[in-house]
Amino acid sequence: MNESTNQLLKPVTLKTNECGNLEIGGCDLAELVEKYGTPLYVIDEATLRNVCDDYKKAFSKYKNVNMMFASKSLCTMATSVILSQEGFGFDVVSAGEIYTVYKSGVDMKKVLFNGNNKSFDELSLALELGVGRISVDNFFELDLLNEIAKSHSKTVDILLRITPGIECHTHEYIQTGHLDSKFGFDLTQIDEAVELILNSYTNLKLHGLHAHIGSQIFETKVYHDEIEILVKEIARLDEKFGLKLDEINIGGGLGVKYTESDCPPSTFEIADVIVNSLTESIKKYGIEPPALFIEPGRSIISTCGVTLYTIGSSKQVPKGKKYVAVDGGMADNPRPSMYQAKYSAEIANCKKDESLQTVTIAGRFCESGDILIKDIELPNPQEGDILCVYNTGAYNYSMASNYNRVQKSQMVIVNNSKSDIIVNRETLDDLISHDVVPDRLK
Ligand SMILES: *Cc1c(COP(=O)(O)O)cnc(C)c1O
Repeated sequence: MNESTNQLLKPVTLKTNECGNLEIGGCDLAELVEKYGTPLYVIDEATLRNVCDDYKKAFSKYKNVNMMFASKSLCTMATSVILSQEGFGFDVVSAGEIYTVYKSGVDMKKVLFNGNNKSFDELSLALELGVGRISVDNFFELDLLNEIAKSHSKTVDILLRITPGIECHTHEYIQTGHLDSKFGFDLTQIDEAVELILNSYTNLKLHGLHAHIGSQIFETKVYHDEIEILVKEIARLDEKFGLKLDEINIGGGLGVKYTESDCPPSTFEIADVIVNSLTESIKKYGIEPPALFIEPGRSIISTCGVTLYTIGSSKQVPKGKKYVAVDGGMADNPRPSMYQAKYSAEIANCKKDESLQTVTIAGRFCESGDILIKDIELPNPQEGDILCVYNTGAYNYSMASNYNRVQKSQMVIVNNSKSDIIVNRETLDDLISHDVVPDRLK
């Protein structure tokens, strides 16, 4: 089986150049730091295009496949433009994501709006900007959306988000009859929802079923089980209501390699399981082949991104750990402090002294839990060295905060020895730009 880009730890263009510095996309990382400062998110365009190619090749065996990039993993205008050029649609979860892809010139028909508590304003914006599909999550939303659609004199194209009763953990999964999840209709609630759509909610048109079973998935069998459940439901709804659903959206979730010990399956392997399972289930339950939608986020963008930090202070705890602090941390990458996510890193500048030390990389934020990497071996890390943390393209910038009133970091894209800013670093004035001091306090 071919290796795919999501199985790599580092961007495809990463190498050590003649100066002994790391480079990505032909750009020397030490030079990038000199030019833009740190912390700096760097996106490698070649890796991103490679990943998109992998996906397109891997799924070419099924004739009607639609790739929807899960924007919540990284939502910027420039990356939206690239993904749109590569033929991807977008899975969005907020007014902010809808607006970002809209302003990027994305074909809004290829946008699907998800979420368990979409607001009146968000649903209205989705209708106004012509979002192609809304995945309705619950009974409250069916009612709300139908009212909004009526007031716009529109028929809205929807999917039903269902909870197929499969829960994934990274290396194992459990299957339960009724999964306790905040997302989607339970399998036992589908009929009631369909009856409402067919009989009462005349401004809603149901096209298919949608599920998403988890994230950072290494197990291929869960997709097989998920597809079987979705196809079986489609066949059952046809039999019971004469309803012809021709779209099946299986969500995202394919894993990536954060550390050497992670071995995610390749995109090709996952695609084979998905396409074979779908073909098998179509035969078994006797339905017309539906259009298949997949929504990868992490496995598209994670490997494309690295974060560069400058090392500052160090602290040797007597008889304990050595802490090496960087100029970022939980505000630009909340994943380690939020769920003990692991990362790999290297020093990006040439090191004369290569004696390895085991150190813990501490962030600069005022929380003891702000630790980026525990116990990593690095060649004599010193003040002024540049630390390059791999696999930070997904769920880093998109989860970033202004904790400690620190400005959000800049993001650049590199390709063919050129670097371009795609997100500007926030300024101090940006930070206070939304503050208001009432007159009576002055
Ligand atoms: C988060 C999410 C995705 C993307 O998940 P990844 O693990 O980043 O691939 C896709 N679909 C839905 C509905 C999601 O909530």
